[in-house]
Amino acid sequence: MNHVDPANSAGPGRRSFLAGAFAVGTGALLGSALTAGVARAAAGPVIADTGAWGARPASSPLNFVAGAPDKVIVHHTATPNVTDYSQAAAFSLARSMQSYQMDSEHWIDTGQHFTVSRGAYIMEGRHSSLATLRSGTQHVESAHCTGQNTVAIGIENEGTYSTVDPRSQQYAALIDLITYICQRYGLRAYQVYGHRDFNNTECPGDRLYALIPQIRRDVAARIGGDPTGPVWPVLSSGASGENVKTLQYLLVQRGQSLTVDGAYGPATQAAVTAFQNTNHASADGVAGNQTWSQAVAPLARGATGSAVQGVQSQLVAHGIQVSVDGAFGPGTQAGVTSFQSSAGLPADGVVDARTWSRLLA
Ligand SMILES: [Zn+2]
Repeated sequence: MNHVDPANSAGPGRRSFLAGAFAVGTGALLGSALTAGVARAAAGPVIADTGAWGARPASSPLNFVAGAPDKVIVHHTATPNVTDYSQAAAFSLARSMQSYQMDSEHWIDTGQHFTVSRGAYIMEGRHSSLATLRSGTQHVESAHCTGQNTVAIGIENEGTYSTVDPRSQQYAALIDLITYICQRYGLRAYQVYGHRDFNNTECPGDRLYALIPQIRRDVAARIGGDPTGPVWPVLSSGASGENVKTLQYLLVQRGQSLTVDGAYGPATQAAVTAFQNTNHASADGVAGNQTWSQAVAPLARGATGSAVQGVQSQLVAHGIQVSVDGAFGPGTQAGVTSFQSSAGLPADGVVDARTWSRLLA
């Protein structure tokens, strides 16, 4: 589920959404209106656009982000596991979510890009999510995961998956959708995450979260590639060394004021905590999964800054000689490619999340 307020970020506390979701009448659309905006792209699943389910216009202009996102984030709606699997029920859910998010959360439109209903209907959430997906060259800024809304596609799965799994039909539709997203945007199968990888939330529920590795494998079976996701070290006060330097470089890149000295002292702990608060991660001052997941961003040739220094310093620590100058030029690109080859990663010279994690391993 979506949130903007850290006080409301925990999944079980999302009861207010239920009231919003089901206070709205069903008012099913009829006949051609149901199918007018439903289209099948080549090799893609049927996705009902905002016109098909009767969305309200966005209240403000949407922000279009150039380029592809770098990940997909899976959510659950934390609404009841209904047994009405009809298209009308799916469209009613879409309208209810949008109304709640616009009227109560005061967002400009639906938060997430796509929704998968219990009945396995796939729907566009925020306007233009589908057209931009089909373009493969841009995406729409969203409101589904604090810290990730300009770089991640968000998918809400109708239901509550804390103690039960999604229906098999719903799961299959989710795989179809994620596969299509990966194909259109050139994402790898491992670049699928759960909301709790980034924010302090129960979302997408223990059971759906536990399925993330399976989702990666099922998508990889369709598009190829290694589905193994990143694994992050856990660093806390008193730690020292190259990985602490990397953390510090990343925090400086993200605007924290910090000396890069490789020592996890009080200043680093304070910077980690501040960064966690900013990104609605669990603010414990310990750098683990959420902190690394929020701190890293893909880096490629042409990038500059402190994060690039972090990569360069790690390459040197791995015996690959590059200048630690914060400029991602051909030498750094060659170094990254060399490291990726030795680590068994796709050697494309782009420091994606998995390359980051292997540098830290
Ligand atoms: Zn969520």
